[in-house]
Order: sequence, then structure tokens, then C-alpha cells
Amino acid sequence: MRVLLVAPPGAGKGTQGALIATHFGIPHIATGDLLRDHVARETELGRAVRDRLSRGELVPDEVVLDMVAAAIAEAKAGGVGYVLDGMPRNMTQARALYEIGRGLQMTANVALHLKADDEELIRRLLARAALEGRSDDTEPVIRRRLAIYHEVTHPIVDWYASRGILVSVDAMRPVDRVARQILTALESMRSLVEHVPEHARRPIDLTGLGAAFGRN
Ligand code: AMP
Repeated sequence: MRVLLVAPPGAGKGTQGALIATHFGIPHIATGDLLRDHVARETELGRAVRDRLSRGELVPDEVVLDMVAAAIAEAKAGGVGYVLDGMPRNMTQARALYEIGRGLQMTANVALHLKADDEELIRRLLARAALEGRSDDTEPVIRRRLAIYHEVTHPIVDWYASRGILVSVDAMRPVDRVARQILTALESMRSLVEHVPEHARRPIDLTGLGAAFGRN
């Protein structure tokens, strides 16, 4: 099972990603966690991205793409699946990720979209701020992250729908109910996706990605 999670901040990507990973015994690759770990360890990369994370801005595409290419190669060595949480965040990443997957014969077979409205997301993130103290969980930064999501991330969802791999779930409900719906949906697709070899999957027309973003 190879799952991409596309969701606004606060929709429960981290929680649901971890549950899916445990359920299927596959690695949970969370770009935000990998970046925060670099910041905490004060690596060169961490120092380079720290301010962007605090402002809620996306870090440069190359940074996350290198990280994710390495993580997917590692996932391939360890088995056949992954849950990628927090990537792709824009059109360039969606395209590059598809090409990385194609090269490794590890393209995603499900794009899982968690839906929730902005006011609920803001409420949840402010509640999380009180517990975790993340530098990007202040109200102005939360609003900035949501604006970026709507502007440059959400259009990808249409592209996954047109590829026929989109599963959309209402994430406004309690965690356990959302999790149950996700695992039921993924389980029902499992035998199908696990028995289609990568070489038997038809290549994707990447021009459709530009169209999802209103470009030719
Ligand atoms: P998240 O934990 O997914 O909410 O991500 C936290 C922050 O990490 C984001 O606001 C970005 O600054 C950065 N980030 C995570 N994933 C990406 C990505 N795929 N592309 C660019 N920046 C990212």
C-alpha cells in the first residue's frame, strides 16, 4: 500500500498517517517531522529552514524532494509500501514525486484527502499549540499555512481524482471514526493495488497536472 496524504494543517495527517503505517506495517514518512528534527538537531539544513517553518512558509522544493527520494528508496529496500505525509505541497512537488516514484517503481496507489473547514482547523491547531508549543501554531501563522494550502496545495487533489486514485474522507469527526473510515477504504482497495505490478500501470499524463492548476 503506497499512500499520499493531502490535507490542510490540523486535519490530522500526522495522527492518521501513523495509524495507517502501523496498520499496514509500512514506514510513515512525514516531511514536517523530518524538517523539525533537523531544526531541533541544529543541522545545517535545519538552520537553513528554521525561519521558513516558523513563518509557515514552504521550504524549497529541492530540500524536501531530496529527503523524500531517499526515504522512498529506503522504503523500497524494506518492502513495498509507505505513507507519505506532507508531500506533495505544490504542483512542482507533485510532478517530481510522480517521477521519483516512477523511477523507483514505487508510485502512489492512493491519494488520501482529509477534508475539514478552516474554522475547525484553526480551533484544533490553537488547542495543539497549548500542548506542543510548535513555533508555527500561532494564529497568524496558522492562517498563512491555510492560505498556502488553499492556493498551492489543494488543486493537486483534483489531479489525483482525475488519475482515479483519490479517496476523500470527512476529517471533521472524532479521530477514531475518521481512522475507521480510512482503514476500511484502504483495506477494500488492498488486494487490487497490491496485485497490479508497477510495470502494468499505465503512465500518467502530466499535462493534466497543469490543468488542475488552471495552466495549459
Ligand atoms: P507539517 O508538519 O506537514 O504541517 O509541515 C510543517 C512545515 O514544514 C510546513 O509549514 C513547511 O514549512 C514545512 N514543510 C513540510 N512539508 C513540506 C513540503 N512538502 N514542502 C515544503 N515545505 C514543507
